Amino acid sequence: MKFVDAHIHLADEEYQECIGEVLLEAKDSKVVALVSNSMDLKTSARSLELAQQFKGTVYAALGIHPWTVNKLTDEELHQTLVLIKEQSRNKSFVAIGEIGLDSKYMDIWEKQSKVFDLMLRIAEELRLPVIIHSRGTTAQILDMLPSYRLQRVLLHWFSNPISALSKAVEIGCYISEGAPTVFSEGIRDVVKKTPIDRLLTETDGPVQFFKPPFKGKRTTPAFVPEIVNAMAELKKLSPESVADQVAKNFEDFFGVKLN
Ligand SMILES: [Zn+2]
Repeated sequence: MKFVDAHIHLADEEYQECIGEVLLEAKDSKVVALVSNSMDLKTSARSLELAQQFKGTVYAALGIHPWTVNKLTDEELHQTLVLIKEQSRNKSFVAIGEIGLDSKYMDIWEKQSKVFDLMLRIAEELRLPVIIHSRGTTAQILDMLPSYRLQRVLLHWFSNPISALSKAVEIGCYISEGAPTVFSEGIRDVVKKTPIDRLLTETDGPVQFFKPPFKGKRTTPAFVPEIVNAMAELKKLSPESVADQVAKNFEDFFGVKLN
């Protein structure tokens, strides 16, 4: 059996001291591929480095997260777009992410919308898949997506409204879920209702979880087998068949071949 983590922030400060350990834990848990999602220019550059250093295991996603747009300067935005364009020529990353809109930060809504639009447009231009953060904005984002010609869309940690899930699936989105699959009724419902060929696994580390069995633990890809077990139970399938299908989904979504 092999597992994947489609959404982790390996470039985050919290992982820099222990990156070797984290990747060793991934290996020991049979997590064979991880997508290092970025937040800004600095983490995009770091994700690229990690993908280079751990080729075949770590893949990079580059982009600007809605949480970082408040301190984003025009120069940094420009440099990020340049980096994305340059690096796309040698195919050193696999997606644009993490990008999106967050309703918690309405004070910077205009800037969030502008940056999100630029990120979607560059994904469209470079024909790259996107990884989207949609807290409180899922319905709105689903309305926007058809006006871009995107290759593939991953709604990471899709939580609500559940009524938007069928539309997301209908327009071709993939859904990735992590630790809450084990303990959150809302997320369990999402997993139940997502077709198995659109489902991916993630950890969103270093985000921490305070419910068992994850309480007090550093979030690492080692969580993924537990998440797959929970998905298997919800889907009434064996963990092996869920792991195989999710690995295939990962290959289809990111256009890579797993080792
Ligand atoms: Zn994230």
